[in-house]
Amino acid sequence: MASLQLEIVTPDHLVLSKEVDYVGAPGVEGEFGIMASHIPFLSALAIGGLHYKAEGKTRFVFISGGFAEVSDNKVTILAESAEEAECIDTARADEARKRAEARLTAKNENTNNLRAEAALTRAVTRLNLANRG
Ligand code: ATP
Repeated sequence: MASLQLEIVTPDHLVLSKEVDYVGAPGVEGEFGIMASHIPFLSALAIGGLHYKAEGKTRFVFISGGFAEVSDNKVTILAESAEEAECIDTARADEARKRAEARLTAKNENTNNLRAEAALTRAVTRLNLANRG
């Protein structure tokens, strides 16, 4: 069977480049799964957990939006930020969660709610994924 290459890139670095058996990614219209020999495909990504299977194990990677492209047995993830689950700093994510919750509960008219909600989603998703690292 053909092999599948997964590459996850952010604006500042290459997070992962690996041969895998399967990729499940958080598309904006729902989770999608990719195996070798998939047809070319492009999707915007939501904030969420990407998982991949390799060497008999499933691993998780935090993704904060971006795009996924599938072509020629290669899945390229261009993410705004991404961390492998075991690299997530849970203390930092918990601080980010508290800041976002405080902004949302304060109901200050200067608060950008969409921005605070996105920060909260990133923080909670990181905390959930860190437990699966
Ligand atoms: P914070 O308010 O803590 O910066 P954030 O959600 O605003 O959180 P991002 O803009 O998503 O942070 O990411 C900025 C950079 O910091 C990226 O390189 C990202 O990988 C890294 N980063 C953010 N939070 C964490 C974390 N909890 N653990 C590891 N790396 C993180």
